[in-house]
Amino acid sequence: MAYQALYRVWRSQRFDDVVGQKAITQTLKNAITQKKTSHAYLFTGPRGTGKTSAAKIFAKAINCPNSQEGEPCNECEMCQSITAGSQEDVIEIDAASNNGVEEIRFIRDRANYAPTKAAYKVYIIDEVHMLSTGAFNALLKTLEEPKEHVIFILATTEPHKIPLTIISRTQRFDFKRINAQDIVDHLKHILQEIDIAFEEQALYIIARAAEGGMRDALSILDQAISYSDGTITTEHAMQVTGSLTFEMMDQYVGACVNQEVQRALTDLEQILSEGKEARRFLEDLLLYCRDLLMYQQAPQLLSEKSGHLTEAFKALAGQVSPEAIYQMIQILSETQNEVRFTNNATIYLEVATVKLATPSTNQGVSQASGQPAGQLMPEASGQSAHSGQTANAGELHQLQAQVAALQKEVQSLKQNGTANGAEPAAAKPKAKPVKTTFRVPTERVFQVLAEATKQDLLNLKNVWDDVLMAMSVTQRAMLKSSEPVAAGPNSLVIAFEYEIVCQKAMGDEELSLMLSNTISRMIPNYAPTAVYITRESWPAIRQSYVQQNKHQEKPSESFSESEEEMTAPLPSEEEVAVEKAKEFFGEELLTIIDD
Ligand SMILES: [Zn+2]
Repeated sequence: MAYQALYRVWRSQRFDDVVGQKAITQTLKNAITQKKTSHAYLFTGPRGTGKTSAAKIFAKAINCPNSQEGEPCNECEMCQSITAGSQEDVIEIDAASNNGVEEIRFIRDRANYAPTKAAYKVYIIDEVHMLSTGAFNALLKTLEEPKEHVIFILATTEPHKIPLTIISRTQRFDFKRINAQDIVDHLKHILQEIDIAFEEQALYIIARAAEGGMRDALSILDQAISYSDGTITTEHAMQVTGSLTFEMMDQYVGACVNQEVQRALTDLEQILSEGKEARRFLEDLLLYCRDLLMYQQAPQLLSEKSGHLTEAFKALAGQVSPEAIYQMIQILSETQNEVRFTNNATIYLEVATVKLATPSTNQGVSQASGQPAGQLMPEASGQSAHSGQTANAGELHQLQAQVAALQKEVQSLKQNGTANGAEPAAAKPKAKPVKTTFRVPTERVFQVLAEATKQDLLNLKNVWDDVLMAMSVTQRAMLKSSEPVAAGPNSLVIAFEYEIVCQKAMGDEELSLMLSNTISRMIPNYAPTAVYITRESWPAIRQSYVQQNKHQEKPSESFSESEEEMTAPLPSEEEVAVEKAKEFFGEELLTIIDD
């Protein structure tokens, strides 16, 4: 049997198994036992927090003849058919792939008939915010005329995209991010069950990276398992999550605290050159500062396992004042806000580093001088009489200049180009949406096509979602807008929506390794190497391969997908721009004003 991802195998089957959502599951159980269920529910919350699991458990519990205290038995035919997804009265719809009006009209018509086997028909509509306006209207009609035997459960990560008219007709439950300790406990339980050894600290690293989502935590764990040889170590967890080693963090923060700007910048450069993602690094830094504060105030709360209590960390905690830490946190959160809107995070990080490692106005310049705040240092004024301060004045000027230069750079980035996702350096001529600095690895693609088969491609596509889920969060982010377009016994071609991501992938050996590794876990004895191209270059390259091999026997469809894809109209410039903006800003931050 094909490999099954942990998050599938360990999906909760009872309300009591849903981690971290006690208030919600208790309320649902009560509603079922007291027979006071609603006609429509809205489950909102971040991904991987248990929304669809809870929906399925609800569908079972309300239909299970042996239901006890609001929990399903999971043994009877009804429960098992719902678990397997074969119960015709419990209908799961993924709005991300069916956003059509027809679909919802169909539901509406069918909802008029009584359930055939179950007591209640339950419609679970996942990612409901993806429905089209027409579909929402059709759904609204259905919700306006509730039927005795029909229950709707709408699930979404983005409730703000759902019309208020719909929301007002549902009973809403907000699923919370799951706290790290709950995630750790659950991972521990699973590892004990499947008999895999682990270092406890590794689980805390995984929990942190998962940011409150159990499904992400399980995917990361999956990956850590495949990295490890029997025991999941802190090292594995850090590799998989892209966390920094504690020593590197200690060193960098130490340089900042000791106001060694040069060293801090060098450390930063090294950290980033080792492939650490800027946003991730900022998060790690914030957590580090929080831990410093916690350790100062309540060391017992930072147990040895959860924190990185190195000697250097303890020394830092003893050295730096809480006020200074607050200030660092402020600088870091401001930076975090800024990098959300740019793809030049490095520069912001450099600015932040200089700020962090520069003596602050309020502390450095003491009350004695009584000069206006906001100035770094006066020129050689009366203050020079003060102890060692003069020695620093020159250095401070230099730093001021450095900050000014960096800020100017940031300013110009803000003005030019970042908003439409252009690359930093290019003082680009007015928007052609696509430029081609990208060189298509034609030879290598041809080699793949020479051995490609439709079956290999189909097999691969079948497991592609699971492959992505098993990759690290950053790798998944990279591959998110890509898909396999051709595959043979030893190799495959992956097409990327964005050139910049494609280029990044080409230079990422770890990604390639991880990819073929993961695929081999899903499809036994199959570990193809990947060739990356842009989606845009695919039709032409396929065409030219077909041209070249016209006179040979192999028919052109043997390796590719449907023909219509080739002739499908290219997206308009506007669509491309919107897509790019979404890619860089994240959908939730982007409002498109239609005019
Ligand atoms: Zn049952």
